[in-house]
Amino acid sequence: TWILGIETSCDETSASVVRDGRFVVSNVVASQIAIHRQYGGVVPEVASRQHLEKITYVVEKALNDAGLGFNDLDGIAVTVGPGLIGALLVGVAAAKAYSYALRIPLIPVHHLEAHLYANFLAHKELAPPLICLVVSGGHTSLILLKNHLEYEILGATRDDAAGEAFDKIARVLGLPYPGGPALEELAREGDPQAVHFPRAWLGKDSLEFSFSGLKTAVLNYLKNNCEEGKESFLPDVAASFQAAVIEVLVEKTIMAAKKSGVPDVCLAGGVAANSTLRELFKQKAGQEGLRFYFPDKILCTDNAAMVACAGYYHYLAGDFAPLTQEACANHPLIVAKL
Ligand code: ATP
Ligand code: MG
Ligand code: FE
Repeated sequence: TWILGIETSCDETSASVVRDGRFVVSNVVASQIAIHRQYGGVVPEVASRQHLEKITYVVEKALNDAGLGFNDLDGIAVTVGPGLIGALLVGVAAAKAYSYALRIPLIPVHHLEAHLYANFLAHKELAPPLICLVVSGGHTSLILLKNHLEYEILGATRDDAAGEAFDKIARVLGLPYPGGPALEELAREGDPQAVHFPRAWLGKDSLEFSFSGLKTAVLNYLKNNCEEGKESFLPDVAASFQAAVIEVLVEKTIMAAKKSGVPDVCLAGGVAANSTLRELFKQKAGQEGLRFYFPDKILCTDNAAMVACAGYYHYLAGDFAPLTQEACANHPLIVAKL
């Protein structure tokens, strides 16, 4: 079974062919980072226009790289939300057009489930149940995957997402967009124990997150300690901030696994590309006797392979959408059953 995935929820135009849900045959990602960098962040209208310019080329390249033609495809999976509405619309409209023209199913995919499913591409032996921390630019959520496509949200952030905190702190440190990778780079030269920033545990057993207090603490610290010619301490601030975020992410993910008695724990989402997070997660999960997984970095940030992977399981379940399918900026992962 060949599924074409399409992803345009933010600033990556991506298309990918995945075979039988687990094998990435091609994965084309056209990043708009260089374009948005001059504005210091994603400009939604610019993102939509870029998607529109790139989408057909990216889809055709994904097929070419796979050595396939349109007629070989069995289904079109597309991110329908959450994300930037104008950006999502481009992918959804394209997917509908391909689905209609080729007379193959249109498969709607949730962006967070796609991030989670990246783990199934990276690890062929992986199967539910599992716990996954989806940690990205807009989300920080602990999800229990009970069976394929069956989710329970165990905890989420009450305010900022971890990636958002990385991006904001990076910005005040004078780093370019996107802040996460740049901050990680700066932190490499710093001492993570130089400054003790607060960890928001939110109660002993809480699986919720909060990063706005940490953000304020870093901003205040910079305000009170930043003098001309003292730029040398910025790597220490970056490293200490990163350590504060990561410690909470790892501790709560492990707590979630222990509480639910699930031995398989995964990371997903853009922040899961962070090497310090991957290392600490590996170390702590290993100590606890848990099996731990994370995708290659390219499968952590936005890409269409993860969309095609999740789409394959929806394909097996017969979850197809009509051509009236809409893009949804605030798409819930779990749709309440009445
Ligand atoms: P969402 O998935 O919640 O809709 P998004 O799609 O914009 O948001 P992703 O593409 O999954 O987010 O991830 C982008 C985020 O990941 C950004 O906030 C970015 O700074 C962060 N990020 C990427 N690489 C790293 C890294 N090495 N360290 C920390 N953060 C990182
Ligand atoms: Mg992005
Ligand atoms: Fe994402």
